[in-house]
Amino acid sequence: MIRSLFSHIFHLFYPDNCVVCGGQLRMSERVMCSACLIDIPRIYFHNTERNPLEELLWGQIPYVRASSLFYYFKDNTYSSLIYDLKYKNRPDIGVFLGELCADELSASGFFEDIDYIVPIPLHRKRLRSRGYNQSEKIAEGLSVYSGIPVLPKLIKRTVHTQTQTQKNKEERMRNVSNIFKVTRPQQVHNKHILVIDDIITTGATTISCTQSLIEADSSIKVSIVSLGLAR
Ligand SMILES: [Zn+2]
Repeated sequence: MIRSLFSHIFHLFYPDNCVVCGGQLRMSERVMCSACLIDIPRIYFHNTERNPLEELLWGQIPYVRASSLFYYFKDNTYSSLIYDLKYKNRPDIGVFLGELCADELSASGFFEDIDYIVPIPLHRKRLRSRGYNQSEKIAEGLSVYSGIPVLPKLIKRTVHTQTQTQKNKEERMRNVSNIFKVTRPQQVHNKHILVIDDIITTGATTISCTQSLIEADSSIKVSIVSLGLAR
């Protein structure tokens, strides 16, 4: 009863079409229809030893675990999930996918001993124009499911960078090096932090953000989750 009431209210505020295929959503569905949800190009990273995200980050930063929910192909219809989340004022997509991600990861013990969830921050200028931080919305969904608290203000993005999409790996690294600052490192001394990103392409932003944590206090342990891994 309460659930169906919630669905009614939800459908009043958000479009009732599937973000992926455009088909009409049923009352019990959010963001994606069941058929698109089943076919999402999942990676099941957490079930394999040294998954592709861990391989990408290996040797560049120390981490405990790393995983993504799905492969991100630019021209695939599923890319609209990320596009609408970032550019079409759909923070609900981030929360929904965060919950989905937590549901998939929790079975493998991924969240064990993680103390805080920390989204990769936006610069305040971009936050102002977008109205919300998409990684923070993903973090909220993960937190609802796992019960682990989010620290949205632990890390600050001190430099407003251009978009990374046209840059190669070296340029991306240079573009984002030293752009993050940990505001209160003493708060996370000896803690295990889960860093959240929307899409990982070369990993430059995630690596830079993780480095800022470890450089602020070497006792901090880091795990990483992104929704998509770009291919
Ligand atoms: Zn659909």
